Amino acid sequence: MSESNKERGKKIDPHAIIRQTTRYIAQNYDSLPVVLSRGEGPFLYDVEGRQYFDFLSAYSAVNQGHVHPEIRDALMDQVSRLSLVSRAFHHDLLGESAAFISNLFEYEKVLMMNTGAEAVETALKLARKWGYEYKKIPENQVRIIVCQGNFHGRTSTIVSFSTDKLARTRFGPPMPGFEIIPYDDIPSLEKSLKHPHVAAFLVEPIQGEAGVCIPSDDYLSKVATLCKKHQVLWIADEIQTGLGRVGSWLGVCGHCTCQYSCQRLTESYLRPDLLVLGKALSGGMYPISAVLADAHLMDVLSPGTHGSTFGGNPIACRVARTALEVIKKENLIKKARERGSYFRERMQKMVHKHEFLKEVRGRGLLNALVLQNEQVEENLAYKLCLSLKEQGILAKDTRKNIIRFAPPLVISQEQMIEACDRIAKALRSFQKLI
Ligand code: PLP
Repeated sequence: MSESNKERGKKIDPHAIIRQTTRYIAQNYDSLPVVLSRGEGPFLYDVEGRQYFDFLSAYSAVNQGHVHPEIRDALMDQVSRLSLVSRAFHHDLLGESAAFISNLFEYEKVLMMNTGAEAVETALKLARKWGYEYKKIPENQVRIIVCQGNFHGRTSTIVSFSTDKLARTRFGPPMPGFEIIPYDDIPSLEKSLKHPHVAAFLVEPIQGEAGVCIPSDDYLSKVATLCKKHQVLWIADEIQTGLGRVGSWLGVCGHCTCQYSCQRLTESYLRPDLLVLGKALSGGMYPISAVLADAHLMDVLSPGTHGSTFGGNPIACRVARTALEVIKKENLIKKARERGSYFRERMQKMVHKHEFLKEVRGRGLLNALVLQNEQVEENLAYKLCLSLKEQGILAKDTRKNIIRFAPPLVISQEQMIEACDRIAKALRSFQKLI
């Protein structure tokens, strides 16, 4: 039994908790039937004390591991000093943490928000205003190009250009001004960029929610070149791919082979005009997101044009800085690269062994196992997640035939070997079920 429950002397019935949750909470998630009450490093513990390897990391928010002691201490210390003043006043941490984040990613300015979707919205607003003020696009005519299979969050503007029917249907009318083109398709991009009213191209360096879809090697560098040529802003949504997850500081660093263990960005850094971060910016400790840009772009915002009561609050500033320092200090980027290679090697053997598996793909510790059943109505990936849970591995389907595997980057090599052994076992028992 987990410490806190034991201390409380409570008899825990996970089924009762699930029943109560299902009764009172909106049914907007299809959660796995596991009730968690504690986390530490790469592990989660359920209310009965059972240990699991976390292979979701709260959709890549917990890159630094659960309850990282340094991030926790920074949060606890700051909570006892000052939590929130709003941007109506200055506070003592905003400047230094903004300088730290901006310098780390080589931008002149940063705007801190809370959730990922809010940061994407912020980037879209910046791009629209820039389009009117710099590109002199006629009022209400700005166009922003996005990709098929995108996932950028759940607000009404963002779902307007989602190609996931479920995300979009009955949430209209959709926000106008977006054009959807295929992902990893340079000729389509080139064609769309020619329209004089295009202000920006929004793209994920790897499409995480779509099932860890990796574009061609030269896709992002061509995106960078073309956007520059057509005077269009390139917005990279690194909310899921950023901060070490794919084995480099950012997805836009490409295949990272730098000699610095990613203590700094490399020559292969493509540097989008707008960089959007979230999730692991707090190590999963607090909702923090950010948009980075140079001054000429960020300065299209003036007082009253954008804001957030909680954005850039003292806790967020302390936590974000500490969370970034932890990635550096603990060499998490290099670890993600090494553990990720091992994971894919092991899973490749599974793909050869089991006919129901189609492929393993990914970069760093953002990986996916793809099942053969694309055309089948049944969600076999969810079923496999249940088998994985039985073996002490928590992962989640992203499509009915795709499971994402994204453990915290702090997972050790020994732990990764054990986790892969358990996945192999789950695949064997799943084989018997189908
Ligand atoms: N953008 C990407 C690429 C994401 O993966 C997500 C969340 O999964 C978001 C945006 C939205 O972030 P949030 O859920 O914090 O609003």
